[in-house]
Amino acid sequence: MNKKALITGVTGQDGSYLAELLIDKGYQVFGLVRRSSTSNLERISHLFDHIQILCGDLLDQSSLMDVITDSQPDEIYNLASQSYVPLSWTQPALTAEYTALGVSRLLESIRRCKSDAKFYQASSSEVFGQPEESPQTERTAFRPRNPYGVAKAYAHWMTVNYRQKYNLYSCCGITYTHESPRRGTEFVFRKITHAAAQIKLGLANELKLGNLDARRDWCYAKDAVYAMWLMLQQEKADDYIIASGETHSVKELVECAFNCVGLDWQDYVSVDYAFYRPDESVQLVGSIDKIKTELGWQPEYSFKQLVELMVDYDLKKLTNNRA
Ligand code: NAP
Repeated sequence: MNKKALITGVTGQDGSYLAELLIDKGYQVFGLVRRSSTSNLERISHLFDHIQILCGDLLDQSSLMDVITDSQPDEIYNLASQSYVPLSWTQPALTAEYTALGVSRLLESIRRCKSDAKFYQASSSEVFGQPEESPQTERTAFRPRNPYGVAKAYAHWMTVNYRQKYNLYSCCGITYTHESPRRGTEFVFRKITHAAAQIKLGLANELKLGNLDARRDWCYAKDAVYAMWLMLQQEKADDYIIASGETHSVKELVECAFNCVGLDWQDYVSVDYAFYRPDESVQLVGSIDKIKTELGWQPEYSFKQLVELMVDYDLKKLTNNRA
């Protein structure tokens, strides 16, 4: 019999890639979607024939219990959250409701309705905040620096606690920034690849960025969702860092993206201090030693390949839009 998986956040970047992966692997896939007055299903519209949409919300415990009871999943991936860090400062309580308490509701629903289901929680490198060491490992202390990171830290420890107290197969993937053509342009990677394509096509003529020397650990969302799946295929639940294990500066990213379209970035990019982030003296970069050794996972796509595929996507999309 085919395995069944339930994905929360299926309309998001990671959810849509994970749904594709699981469908390819022969799973029966259920996606939890919150109702909205206009459609938010664009990222999964190509999967409608292969996925069953169930209505629910992380804010509503009974909807989660109903969805789990109806779908009887073998695996549950919680990718839903308020996932935009700046918004967590303007909506801190709502961020906690979705990103922290939502996970409590989900864990409690699993315990009551399908306690043998394997559970993946989307944890984040933001739990490390201003870390005391670099690279970070699964043992690095959590020192979150924004309401999103605080909410993710709560969710992380609840997931670990349910594993220890109730013996659930519940685990956390601490993902670092991962990107794709399905990422919004409010995130710096896509902002840059999209702008390079726009400028090449004469649709824009400048790009304003913050600290060009800021460094990030970026990987491809498709690589990240494969690691999530792998984590639920083990005998025993455990937590892993999912990252590229290397950093690149915003300047390197800009250079690479503008190279892809044959332009000199220095003619178009200016620095705007409004986009600067607080102190970044300690690098957020993940050690992938544990996941590499124990699960045999490492990213397939290099930084350069990721930039190229995203610029290429944006060039094609913008060109088609114009036609
Ligand atoms: P995303 O594109 O922002 O997707 C978030 C998803 O959560 C959307 O499907 C959204 O549904 C859903 N959602 C939000 N509130 C909900 C609620 N109350 N009930 C049910 N669903 C709700 O995020 P992503 O980039 O795919 O990231 C996936 C997960 O990984 C998130 O938990 C994120 O915090 C975490 N993460 C991501 C990164 C990264 O670089 N992408 C890094 C570290 C951690 P709507 O379509 O209705 O808005």
